[in-house]
Amino acid sequence: SGRLVTGDTREEDVADSTLRPQNLSEFVGQAQARANLSVFIEAARGRGDALDHVLFVGPPGLGKTTLAQIVSRELGVNFRATSGPVIAKAGDLAALLTNLEERDVLFIDEIHRLNPAVEEILYPAMEDFQLDLIIGEGPAARSVRIDLAKFTLVGATTRAGLLTTPLRDRFGIPVRLQFYTVEELELIVKRGGRVLGAPISEDGANEIARRARGTPRIAGRLLRRVRDFASVLGADTITRAVADKALRALEVDEAGLDAMDNRYLRLIAMSFGGGPVGIETIAAALSEPRDAIEDIIEPYLIQQGFLQRTPRGRVLTPHAFRHQGLAVPSAAPQ
Ligand code: ADP
Repeated sequence: SGRLVTGDTREEDVADSTLRPQNLSEFVGQAQARANLSVFIEAARGRGDALDHVLFVGPPGLGKTTLAQIVSRELGVNFRATSGPVIAKAGDLAALLTNLEERDVLFIDEIHRLNPAVEEILYPAMEDFQLDLIIGEGPAARSVRIDLAKFTLVGATTRAGLLTTPLRDRFGIPVRLQFYTVEELELIVKRGGRVLGAPISEDGANEIARRARGTPRIAGRLLRRVRDFASVLGADTITRAVADKALRALEVDEAGLDAMDNRYLRLIAMSFGGGPVGIETIAAALSEPRDAIEDIIEPYLIQQGFLQRTPRGRVLTPHAFRHQGLAVPSAAPQ
């Protein structure tokens, strides 16, 4: 989609990896996750051992890939990256695993999308660093066992509930990432401004941070768009006024919600009286995949208090009605 305010990866982000922090001390926010990781990294290094397997859980764009890279750099080992849907066959995973050296990090993004036959192979690899492969077919088939280097698997997923229990249980270090505060995003935007050579005032950084949906990837993307806008306007510094003008033109509202978020809220308000309404109904009405709604749209709306997930379905809060400029119905939860 042409959506600007999503956390998912886009080509321009991949092209512009200059904003990626390189070590734990440059990495802003996620204080708890960073503190835990640095203890485990320190301990593993002290023992000269591989770090236990790590699972990063959280919405797209919060820094899971960045942290995985930082972990491998802090460990002083190789970083190999792939993703769940890319590993089609057991043999593909076997090839990756047998090429790892002692203590290397293997990063699997979207690990909840591994196919079950591949996942099967991963269990003994994670637990005993062994690979059980079937060679040949029919009566000639035989099984071989291959010893692997002791590696660290770093998995990333948007929701822990998407993983099978046996896979989830094999991660010794589960790490949940949180949306960033405005103050943290301000630091990220200011650093981004320095890296891009785009002068930005305190209030300009604040305006972008406030409207970045708690997500560094979105902050970086908005910063680049606002910078383009500023140069077209002939503004040499990104001030709050410049940022506001640019973000309005990009249809990112005061609360950082974009056209899609607003469509979502308006649908539930206008067509379903504020809910409760089931996710499948919403997905059909918006013509958007259910996964995208649950992973990208809803987490931020819930965190900001626009939406509640109840056993009977999604329900808007009074805050959401007010944001849409609508009267709050008397039945809405308070
Ligand atoms: P994820 O893997 O969770 O989707 P990424 O690690 O790819 O997210 O991060 C998305 C973008 O946001 C990257 O360009 C990265 O540079 C930036 N980013 C993420 N976390 C931080 C952070 N804590 N500080 C600065 N930039 C960050």
